[in-house]
Amino acid sequence: DDTFDNVVQWVYSVCGYCSVGCGLKIGVNAAGEAVAVRGNDAHPTNAGRVCVKGLYEYKVLDDNDLRVAERGKYPLRRTSTGGWESITWDNATSLIAQKIIEAIDTAGPDSVGIYNTGQWTIEEYYAMGKLGKGALRTSTMDSNTRLCMAAAVYGYMTTFGSDGPPGCYDDIENTDCFFLIGTNPAEMHPQVWRRIANARKSSRAPKLIVVDPRRTATARSADLHLQIKPGTNVALMNGLLQQIIANNWTDNGYINANTRNYDALAAKVASYTPSYVSGITGIPAADIALAAEWIGRSQEVWSLFIQGVYQAMGGTDTVRQICAMHLITGKIGRPGSAPFSITGQATAMSNREAGGSSALAAYRNYYNPAHIAELENIWDVAPGTIPPHGTTVISSKSELQPEKNSMVEMMRKGELKVFWNACTNPAVTLPDLNALYSYLDFSNPSRPFVVVQDIYEPMETAHFADLFLPAAQWGEKTGTYTCAERRVNLGRQAVNPPGFELRPSYGAYSDLEIIKMVADKMAAMDPRFRTQSGDSLVGFNSAEEAFEEWKQVSAGKICDMSGMSYAALETNNGIHWPSTPANLLGGARLYTDGRFNTNWDRAQYGISPDAPWIDPDDKSRAYLWAVDYEAPPEVPDSQYPFWLNTGRVIEHFHSRTKTKRVAQLHEMVPENYVEISTEDAQSLNVATGDLVRVTSRRGEIVVKARITDTVRNGAVFIPMHFGDLDPSDVAENDGRLVSVNRLTINYVDKDCGQPIYKHCAVKLAKA
Ligand code: SF4
Repeated sequence: DDTFDNVVQWVYSVCGYCSVGCGLKIGVNAAGEAVAVRGNDAHPTNAGRVCVKGLYEYKVLDDNDLRVAERGKYPLRRTSTGGWESITWDNATSLIAQKIIEAIDTAGPDSVGIYNTGQWTIEEYYAMGKLGKGALRTSTMDSNTRLCMAAAVYGYMTTFGSDGPPGCYDDIENTDCFFLIGTNPAEMHPQVWRRIANARKSSRAPKLIVVDPRRTATARSADLHLQIKPGTNVALMNGLLQQIIANNWTDNGYINANTRNYDALAAKVASYTPSYVSGITGIPAADIALAAEWIGRSQEVWSLFIQGVYQAMGGTDTVRQICAMHLITGKIGRPGSAPFSITGQATAMSNREAGGSSALAAYRNYYNPAHIAELENIWDVAPGTIPPHGTTVISSKSELQPEKNSMVEMMRKGELKVFWNACTNPAVTLPDLNALYSYLDFSNPSRPFVVVQDIYEPMETAHFADLFLPAAQWGEKTGTYTCAERRVNLGRQAVNPPGFELRPSYGAYSDLEIIKMVADKMAAMDPRFRTQSGDSLVGFNSAEEAFEEWKQVSAGKICDMSGMSYAALETNNGIHWPSTPANLLGGARLYTDGRFNTNWDRAQYGISPDAPWIDPDDKSRAYLWAVDYEAPPEVPDSQYPFWLNTGRVIEHFHSRTKTKRVAQLHEMVPENYVEISTEDAQSLNVATGDLVRVTSRRGEIVVKARITDTVRNGAVFIPMHFGDLDPSDVAENDGRLVSVNRLTINYVDKDCGQPIYKHCAVKLAKA
């Protein structure tokens, strides 16, 4: 039934799942229904190919498949008996506006928390940032990108002076050595992996080094797999730096001209010899030395990294060390060489750029008064409107780290009055879920008023909602998506959202339209939420109008998009930023001249003015961090003897909100499981398919065993996709709790606030 025979129109689009950003076309039949997806042959990222998720992406637009018919069509209000009643959009937006105004009047603007996503369009992030910071004036804004790539942002900005991966996918075909750390592209970013695998077959024959505690599909293809102990990335990176320096594989000319703090770095890593590092990481000393030699002697090196770095101990420091490795060898800013962060979600990059959560639009700096004044002027709001840099979504519990404020901490203390949660599912994805559930439980008298804006009502976070707002999704709206290589792609609307015929009272609307409805209602109800000219802050009437305003906001900044237009994005199959009218397509690589953004007057991010990375001599040099290894906060012991690692599978995306409703994907991985090594399975008397109770200090789940050589003895792996509050899932799991984040530890990176999901201690028993 997936043939192209019934397609009468192919609509230009981009994949809405992962951050690779494959160009797609959505096939629409004569009845206006999405019936197929195919890769865009002309798109440089994927050249017509798609992975299994992309192939079936149209299924989430198809009401006839599996549970897709559960799409929300009506705004819903919680009744006094715990059920739902449908209300009109007019009543729904009045209710949210009234709750926000009550919260601001009684507890101040920061009592309104906005938590969003890495899956909106640039236009939607820009609109939400404008509403939150320019009208509501709340600094309590964050997004799930805090959980998925905050370490990359902080690592880049404190090394180079600004965010953004320096390279691009075309580096893949121009390198001599791939250094993949904490990433499994064969399953997580399949079209990047396809290009790596093809490049490996070329006459250039680049080497492949993979650092991963598991023997993943990627690791099995490596020339050298460094099977590292959990939580020891910082020690390994210091070991590689030590070997590069000790063997003179450095580029001293580049170091002297373009970096600072080299002597401190060299002194710091001197004691991290291969044998010392081997004792910490469990990697043979000879393999550490060999990896350093390949990196040091290769003409070009391309490093790729994601959650195994960001969500592990020392995430920000590890990003800094990877950048340092490229800087001291001069392997950056030219074809084939770059430290290249990748993200999980399709538009995590866009939220960083457009300021939809904690950041300011276009990487403006909270500490730079000129940046604030410039934005207030563009938005036509009074000086002093934009609040200071705000809270993150989650901070560690105080017994583990000094207490910092965060949305979850505010919930715990009863300080958060409104929690507006959009296009994300924290009831599956935040760590230490049992604690979160107690703060949001309807029996808790100090719980906030919870708004959930999503495409499905039966999803875990809506379980705690007082108000549900039905949203349109990918394929049902037009907008722009920045992929991992800073390429901005256009996705056009192919079909109408569910309940389109019920408009204007009911029916799903795009997130941009919902944000505008709330902004307009607030402006109508109270003059405090208007521009100085008396208008709603969200004045644009279409995504393209929003993009045109955003372009002006980005002009002259690091992520300059002023050269782009919807027409140009389609004609060129995406355009890298920076892109100006004078240099439309020149943004593929950053720092090609060895100049960085570390001069304070040019610094583009919200960090205090005395930060060490700011170049005191205004020479725009990159900063080399000298950091030490710190052991993780929780390690296996006699009571909890196993390392727990969490991660993803190719068939599912995030909390499976969409992929569990696509039969072809759901049937491949229908339920959660735990990977156990053969030897450990024998000691536990467990076979594949047996139920296993997995317990940490924070909770307990029961999932099926999968015996494998992917994990080593003493370590287990459980996918992060599965929740256990959706009634359909509960029925399928026979009522068992299966969500791995009931076990994970609430401990965040000291620099960026990203939680450590990749390691904590658990015990196992046959259930
Ligand atoms: Fe979509 Fe990523 Fe698959 Fe490409 S690799 S089709 S962007 S999920």
